[in-house]
Amino acid sequence: MPLKEACGLLGVFSSQYDESIAKTVYYGLFALQHRGQESAGIAVSDQNSIRYHKGLGLVSEVFNEEDLDLLGGKMAIGHVRYSTTGSNSLSNAQPLVVKYHSGELAVAHNGNIVNAYELRNELEQNGIMFHTTTDSEVVAALIAKSRKSLIDAIFECVEKVHGAYSLLIMSKDKLIAVRDSHGFRPLCIGSYNGSYVIASESAAFDTIGATFIRDVEPGEIVVFDEDGLKSFKKKSSKKSLCVFEFVYFARPDSTIDQVSVYQTRWEAGTILAREHPVDADLVVAVPDSGNVAAIGFSDASHIPMGMGLIKNRYIGRTFIQPSQRMRSLGVRLKLSPLRDLIKGKRIVLVDDSIVRGTTMGQIVRMLKDCGAREVHVRISSPPITHSCYFGIDTSTRKELIASDNNLEMIKEFIGADSLGYLSIEGLVKATGLSKQNLCLACFTGEYPIEIPREGRKYLFEKR
Ligand code: 5GP
Ligand code: MG
Repeated sequence: MPLKEACGLLGVFSSQYDESIAKTVYYGLFALQHRGQESAGIAVSDQNSIRYHKGLGLVSEVFNEEDLDLLGGKMAIGHVRYSTTGSNSLSNAQPLVVKYHSGELAVAHNGNIVNAYELRNELEQNGIMFHTTTDSEVVAALIAKSRKSLIDAIFECVEKVHGAYSLLIMSKDKLIAVRDSHGFRPLCIGSYNGSYVIASESAAFDTIGATFIRDVEPGEIVVFDEDGLKSFKKKSSKKSLCVFEFVYFARPDSTIDQVSVYQTRWEAGTILAREHPVDADLVVAVPDSGNVAAIGFSDASHIPMGMGLIKNRYIGRTFIQPSQRMRSLGVRLKLSPLRDLIKGKRIVLVDDSIVRGTTMGQIVRMLKDCGAREVHVRISSPPITHSCYFGIDTSTRKELIASDNNLEMIKEFIGADSLGYLSIEGLVKATGLSKQNLCLACFTGEYPIEIPREGRKYLFEKR
């Protein structure tokens, strides 16, 4: 299993025992399902012990009514997990539950620990046994082996682990939310009915009727226990929020570090229209990832938008198919063209990103087969030239079409009449954030922290 996780977290700390606490987490995880479809899990604490249920697949497949009825408690954490290659094993499902000096701990992680390999080797040499192939277990093991108080153990752990991590950690009487000092991955706090809720994305709050309070700050450790909420701050580093959360990963109805994902995508579409104008008849989005940018493109260019591609809601994300052959079938299974709308038209086709180029090549062909006169591809992010080591699967470098092909070659490969990518400056402007506070490594190769050698992220798999 490669060292990459792009996951969703949801925690609830209730003021009293709540027999339906797992249901709240369950609905919250539904709202975060886009962040991971490989496995799901919920752990609850009733202040005496931790119980959990987890399994492979979608939230709806993993839990039934009875599972949830058995999971009452005063607090709970849940996780949805996503990794795109390698075996998909139950032991890697989260929350991970481990023993420590005062009972049990449940740990859920979103992100990617870049020095997991070294830390794991070190721990193994000291006799610690590992049960999974995820980097997340290193975090659990570091905290669990400590003789210190839980909070001190977490402080010790965050000093050692490098990389991207948003964490939810639950002991029998505390729930702790942690965001790494760069703030690579989002994490925010809300409230409902006197309870606290912590989620990867604010969109989950709307689903469960909670109110947004604030984001967990980079480097912050927030403890929820009987005394309420306490905040500790590790020395802060330069903030490097992942820009790809805005481009693709997060839901458009989420707000991350006070920036609206929808607004950013819309803005990106308008800037894209100004950077790469084109004479055309119809703007068509690649659903759903291109929808908002396409609206922005249409608004700025005054070219009307139409639903030229219809998405089958019941097919999972094509990206998840492990083989190239399955991926190519996947696009046809997922998207159908609206022939009458497309025929004879000059189309602007908008999507959020090109990774391998497979999807876009097939969609362009599909539109041409339906009689599109011209297809002009517009991408609302810059070319992806470098791998991500911080929790988004942009694959190994050789698979990224833009890593060794120029614009003209990519245009030829996907069969488009023209191709335009949003500039890095345009994308930064769309977020309204300062360039210094964003991780743009997949577009620039400038990694905010030291990264493992190329290929290093597959080392766990070979063990
Ligand atoms: P390609 O066929 O170029 O490899 O994939 C491009 C498509 O994948 C785009 O439609 C984009 O929305 C989507 N995509 C980009 N990044 C990710 C990711 O990290 N996970 C998943 N599931 N899809 C992605
Ligand atoms: Mg897409």
